[in-house]
Amino acid sequence: MIRPSWCTQSLLNNCYCLVFLLLAIKAKGWMVPIGERIHNFAHGLALGVTFSQDVILGVTATIAVGLHELHHELGDHAILIQSGFTHYKALTFNFITSLTAFIGISLSASEVCQQRIFALTIGIVSLYFTC
Ligand SMILES: [Zn+2]
Repeated sequence: MIRPSWCTQSLLNNCYCLVFLLLAIKAKGWMVPIGERIHNFAHGLALGVTFSQDVILGVTATIAVGLHELHHELGDHAILIQSGFTHYKALTFNFITSLTAFIGISLSASEVCQQRIFALTIGIVSLYFTC
């Protein structure tokens, strides 16, 4: 991304530069991190619930999520780059976004939450197979 000539190193000017740089990001560049936070939160719920039931089940779910996330994150990175992020900012945004999985893991510790997640999962899988 090219900085405008008025972006210098002064503190006040850096605030304007940051706003300018954030506004230069295309809309889909903001949609990916927002959607990805919800997505990673759901992964955290799934991993927390599966580990709470059985360690082998949790490891299996972790491997499945890891394999699924490999190509998913590469695609997200490509979208962020096309939207105007630098490689460093795209990696930083993806890392920060992935931390929402820990919120899901911590919420899945309660037994009430685990039961609701299992009920929701069974309902979604049932809908998937009936449609
Ligand atoms: Zn995923």
